[in-house]
Formats: sequence, C-alpha cells, structure tokens
Amino acid sequence: MPQPTVDRGATPSSTGFPGPLAPAEMRTSNMSLLLRHLRRHGDRSRAQLAAETGLSKATISSLAADLTERGLVRDGRLVRGAVGRPGLPLTLDGAHVTGVGVEIAVDYLALTAVTLSGITVRETLTTVDAAHLGLDAVLDRAAELTRAMLRSLADADASCVGITVAPPGVIDYAQGMLRFAPNLGWRQVPLVAEFAARLGPLAPPVRLENDAKLAALAEFARFEGTDMVDMLYLTGETGVGAGIIADGRLMRGWSGFSGEVGHLPLDPAMTLCNCGRRGCWELIVGLDAFLRLVAPDPADPLRDPAAPLEGRLHAIRQRVDAHDEAAMLALETITQHLSTGLSVLVDVLNPRAIVLGGYYAHFGDVILPGLAELLAQRRMDAGSGVELLTTRLGMLATARGGALLALEDVFDNPSLVPSRP
Ligand SMILES: [Zn+2]
Repeated sequence: MPQPTVDRGATPSSTGFPGPLAPAEMRTSNMSLLLRHLRRHGDRSRAQLAAETGLSKATISSLAADLTERGLVRDGRLVRGAVGRPGLPLTLDGAHVTGVGVEIAVDYLALTAVTLSGITVRETLTTVDAAHLGLDAVLDRAAELTRAMLRSLADADASCVGITVAPPGVIDYAQGMLRFAPNLGWRQVPLVAEFAARLGPLAPPVRLENDAKLAALAEFARFEGTDMVDMLYLTGETGVGAGIIADGRLMRGWSGFSGEVGHLPLDPAMTLCNCGRRGCWELIVGLDAFLRLVAPDPADPLRDPAAPLEGRLHAIRQRVDAHDEAAMLALETITQHLSTGLSVLVDVLNPRAIVLGGYYAHFGDVILPGLAELLAQRRMDAGSGVELLTTRLGMLATARGGALLALEDVFDNPSLVPSRP
C-alpha cells in the first residue's frame, strides 16, 4: 500500500539536528526500510532490493535473514521469465502479526484486525446506541469485544502489536485523551487509560486517533502505486468529518483539529449544533438530517437508533431503487448541501480525489453524478477538477485505518516482533 506518512520526527541530537545512528539503530532503520520497500513496491529479489535501496547485497541478505526469523518476510514464488540468475523474491509476511482498530461511533462499534501484509483477518460490526448508553457502558462493551478479538487472534497463533481506538471527536494526543465528542456529549475522557484498564495489564498498547483521519488512511491504500497523493475523505455519519491526505501525508494540524469540517457554518437555518455553535454543516448533510428527510415521522423505525444502521440503510436503498419520491428528494437535498461545503474544501485544499464514506457510500450512484455537476458549475479552473469516489470499505474504513496505524510501529521498528522459535 502507499505510504501515508505519519510524522514522528527524528530524534534530535544536542545540536537540534538528527545525530548519527548507533549500529543497532542503523540495523533497525534498514530493516524498516526493507519492510516499507516491500510493502510499497511488492515482491522483490535480494538483488533488486540491493539495487533499489542502495544497501549492499550482503546487508540485504543479513537483514532478510533477520526479518525471516521474525516471520515478517518469507521467500515468495519464483517469477518466470526473469532475466539473469533467478533469485527467490522476498515477500511481506507477518501473517501472525496484527494490529487492531476499534471505532466507537454514535451508532455502532466496529473492530478490525489486519495483518502486516494488509489482510483483514477479523472484523465485527455491533449496533450500539452510544448516546443513550453512556460512556462507561460503551467502553465496557468496546473492551469486551476487543478482548474477544484478542483471544481469537491468540488462539490462531497471531499476536496483536497495538490497538487504535477511534472516538468520534477531537483528541489530545499527548494526554491520550478525548477532548470532546459533540454527538455523545463526552468531554475530557482519559480514553487510553480507561480502555487499557479494561483490557488488563497484558494487553498491547492503546492509542487514539480521530475516526475520519483513520478512514482516510485506510482509503488512501487504494491508490497504491499511483501518483494520487492529495485526497480528501469525508465521513457521513451522525457527525461529518474529513481526513485530509496532502502530498501523501495525513494532515493533523497543530493540535489535531484539522478536518472538523462538519462544523463549518453552512446551515442557513442556523440550528443549534451539539458542538454548542449554530448552523453547522453536519446538521444538513449528516446521517440524522438524511434520516429526517427520508422519514419525517420520528416514530418511523428508520429513525430508531437502537436498530442496526446497516439494516436501516438497506431499507432506504430499496426505496431508492423503487424510486420512492421522499427518498430521492432527500438524496437530492443532501447532494445540494454536500456541494456547498465540498466546493469550499476543493477551493481550500485542491484535492485530486474526494472519497465519500459512511452512509453516502450506500447511495454513491445517486449522489455522485449530481455532485460532480454542481462542483463543476463552481469550478474556477480545470486545475481544480476533482475525482469523486465512494469508499469500498463501508462502515469498517475507520477500524481498518486504526489497525493499519497500529502496525506502523512494526514498520518503524521490526525488532518489536521477536524471532519465531
Ligand atoms: Zn457544530
């Protein structure tokens, strides 16, 4: 997959510049280089790796042996027709090394375990009415599901190197804290500590990341091997947020607040938002707005937050397929409002692709053509044109991104994974 670079910063020396690496650090750094190279470019012979990375063949052989002992790479299949002396290509392995992503959304809990080579090995989607259950009950449930997944991985001889929890809100990275989740009313929650305590002392490390940013990371993987490096991911849930990939990097902003686009002041009715302000965009393009348009009667089962969201969206999809007037009109209205905000984001960020996630993805064939037309009408120049897509990862995009982020630790430092007996 491509390299959604997450800035970690080099270790500064006393001069403020990165100092020279000690031999052990150099070896770790070269193993990391090799793993990332294989992920980005696919299977490679040792000779190819030497030519492409600039490391000597002897170094490559030694590193490959080390990575093989840890089960992170293995010899792949011989490529037919290779010129010169054939060498077995190295391939990314790590089938026993997984990362786990846990998304705590307003309506559901999504968990995904992904192996080092990017294969999803476990996933669960559980309906949870988080707003009504309250913080403790939701965390208990999420931890219970996580423990079950960890047990199931361990039973399959797979270890989990890290867990990323994605709450629907703004994160204080340094404190491991959820600052504010407007749609749940949670404030200042020490989420890393709360979650880790529920998992117990033997659990892998827990970190936090914003839902939209993780979905963007997961989605960005689809552009592997292309020159598409500027992408905007828009979540379509109760809250609406964006994950911004700029020049191949996830943009966080100085305090992690980037992408909170659901609170752009774009609702002409100036309705009061859960964030405390008025007129936020998500009030007219979010899931609740859509459900109200499709089913104006609050007693309509489509509006029941305790009913599985996937089922409700499926029911609406059937209405759309039957050209139900209210459903079609709702999508037209949402498309109009989407275009207002997205045209702002296109002008500010100039993304090459916009990927719509969440509920939008269920109606992409209806939303995208109209949206493309509306954006084209506002287009200043051919250079601001943008490709519109819907996610292929469904409701599990964020959880998958969380699993991938947890695995970054191994790509940074392969020696975290012990040698296999
Ligand atoms: Zn708001």
